[in-house]
Amino acid sequence: MKAVVTGGAGFIGSHLVKGLLEGGAIVHVIDNLSSGIREHVAPGAVLHTEDVRSAEAKQIIASVKPEVVYHLAARADVQQSILAPAFDASVNITGTINILDACKTACVNKIIFASTSGVYGNLEKERITERDPAIPISFYGLSKLTAESYIHMYSQLYCLSYTILRYGNVYGPGQTAKGEGGVIANFMERTINNLPLYINGDGEQTRDFIYVRDVVRANLAAAHHADQETIHVSTGKSTSVNRIVELLRDMHTAEIDLHYRPAQSGDIKHSCLSNQKARTSLQWESAVSIEQGIAETYRSWLQSQ
Ligand code: NAD
Repeated sequence: MKAVVTGGAGFIGSHLVKGLLEGGAIVHVIDNLSSGIREHVAPGAVLHTEDVRSAEAKQIIASVKPEVVYHLAARADVQQSILAPAFDASVNITGTINILDACKTACVNKIIFASTSGVYGNLEKERITERDPAIPISFYGLSKLTAESYIHMYSQLYCLSYTILRYGNVYGPGQTAKGEGGVIANFMERTINNLPLYINGDGEQTRDFIYVRDVVRANLAAAHHADQETIHVSTGKSTSVNRIVELLRDMHTAEIDLHYRPAQSGDIKHSCLSNQKARTSLQWESAVSIEQGIAETYRSWLQSQ
């Protein structure tokens, strides 16, 4: 199989590129390295340092003619989207339209899109399903939801197949302390350097933390399953930020200095996504527990020091 991965130098994209190469795929990456890291792109892949909004990105897809385009490139930061909504929209919406147009021209079979639990905003529900209303409370959530709508429309007009994957909070080795799912990376970096940890709010806010290896497996499964579907990639379990600190305390030998500060605007209090549909449509389920994932991530941070 031939695949293009936009955002393939980023945290999740670089793991996906490795997974695709291990499966024998020919992989091209389009990434402008705005937050991605050149060295994180596995040597077997071809890196094109281009912006997803550019004519060059379109040209690459036209000449590679991949079967599948994994579209992960994005401005993946809630707080930055609040500060700079036009830039967020430009990358996340206009960039997606450009990639969709390229898929149409190059007769790509399928686009697999990285969306987010952020599309649901502050929906008060113990476990959100894909049928629940998506009412974002940040420009980031809104730009991802709008990009999803463009994917639906392109699919209807041009017979382009798609799977939209709405991830929970992804974490794992190689994540930097910025961006959407950054709380675990932030805590890891500060813990290893014996710096204080700052929790926004009371720490009882919960997230559905999903390990990056599980997210890669879901993306690989989507190449063959779940056409024209929107699916959660999640554990279906809530973990509080305080629980993450507890797990770190169990592993770290030195005392952790913990401080609480006011919650940030646009932050969601609770988020947990049902993964029932993923089990049936995608034939995928999460395999890594939060305890195992945090331990692996902690070890990888120690090794990288
Ligand atoms: P990341 O910032 O590590 O990766 C994004 C990549 O996109 C980077 O390599 C960056 O250089 C590239 N990029 C950004 N703007 C670009 C542009 N204009 N042109 C070309 N490349 C560009 O973020 P990530 O955590 O790996 O997220 C990957 C995708 O998954 C994003 O679409 C994000 O919205 C989505 N997502 C992430 C999480 C999470 O918890 N990390 C949760 C839900 C959804």
